[in-house]
Amino acid sequence: MTRTARAAVCRDWNQPIGVETIQVEPPRRDEVTIRLHACGVCHSDLSAATGVIAFPPPLVLGHEGAGEVVAVGEGVEDFQAGDRVITSFVSMCGTCRYCNAGRPVLCETVNSALTTLPDGTVRTHDGDGNALNVFSGCGVMAEYATLHVNNVVPVTDDVPMDRAALVGCAVMTGVGAVFNTAQLEPGSTAVVFGAGGVGLNVIQGCRIAGARQIVAVDMSEDKLETARQFGATDTVLADDKAPKAVRKLTGGADYAFECVGRGAVAEQAYACLGKGGTVIIVGVAPRDDMTRINTLSLPAQERGIRGSWFGSARPRYDFPRLFGLYAGGQLLLDELVSQRYTIEEAPRAFADMEAGRNARGVILFE
Ligand SMILES: [Zn+2]
Ligand SMILES: [Zn+2]
Repeated sequence: MTRTARAAVCRDWNQPIGVETIQVEPPRRDEVTIRLHACGVCHSDLSAATGVIAFPPPLVLGHEGAGEVVAVGEGVEDFQAGDRVITSFVSMCGTCRYCNAGRPVLCETVNSALTTLPDGTVRTHDGDGNALNVFSGCGVMAEYATLHVNNVVPVTDDVPMDRAALVGCAVMTGVGAVFNTAQLEPGSTAVVFGAGGVGLNVIQGCRIAGARQIVAVDMSEDKLETARQFGATDTVLADDKAPKAVRKLTGGADYAFECVGRGAVAEQAYACLGKGGTVIIVGVAPRDDMTRINTLSLPAQERGIRGSWFGSARPRYDFPRLFGLYAGGQLLLDELVSQRYTIEEAPRAFADMEAGRNARGVILFE
């Protein structure tokens, strides 16, 4: 059955985000339809709405969804109606060399299908019957969504839906950058640039992994205060002198995480490193942004610089680990959700995020 859903839709870049009624077709082979309970409001959704991420509109936004399966397509054996799931925006074929190497975020077969389902088509149409693209195979800022089965992951009953939703993006991106990409060693020192939704999760990832010192750098005193709650041992206000202050505190950091997405910040992160230190670039910079580093310092001090995409996630392996850390009290999720909205309030949720008012805003569906 085709379902009617209220959804946040980007009609054109740099236009106000609208909420409209859309049609969601039933699942085809290897697909499921979910009824959303919650969807995180992510900076990447905003980037898609402004064209910084060049997903062609019209586009149903949302990729941090949590909900329950209401219908399964032919060939789906892992899920049935009533199962609790969260969405994963990593489309993975499971057969290419990257998927086989345990690096599905680099999947080369289906990552081109970023605004459709993996088969290149969509299940979403507007009131006039025109096709609507979906954000990264998801489009879950909507009451219903039909996705490929590889884009959903089961959730245990002990995680509330609004918190579970965040695991599918901000939490995985941040914590995964520490666990999977950096593989931070216990007793290390770390500095984290940017204490927003992702940066806070890098900070708590460092804490859980056993960093002995975690310095948070941000322009906002409020965010630095929140950073302490998540595990920062020291805080530094962001300005030109931040690297000097960090070096003084740490004696040269073992790891520096860039969660802002700007070459100038990446350079500051690099300047915080001690010998043998590594910068992990987590933030998503504009396409033409560049980073300049001193080439000789790479070999002479065995420094490193590498990127982390979606926390190098292997969703069906990592998400359950994160739920377990939440259940055990180590991973903070409740504290991440700073504001809740209805789907009709989606435009305000985006405005609040742009103004930096939230750790994380979440849309709750009735
Ligand atoms: Zn996101
Ligand atoms: Zn693949």
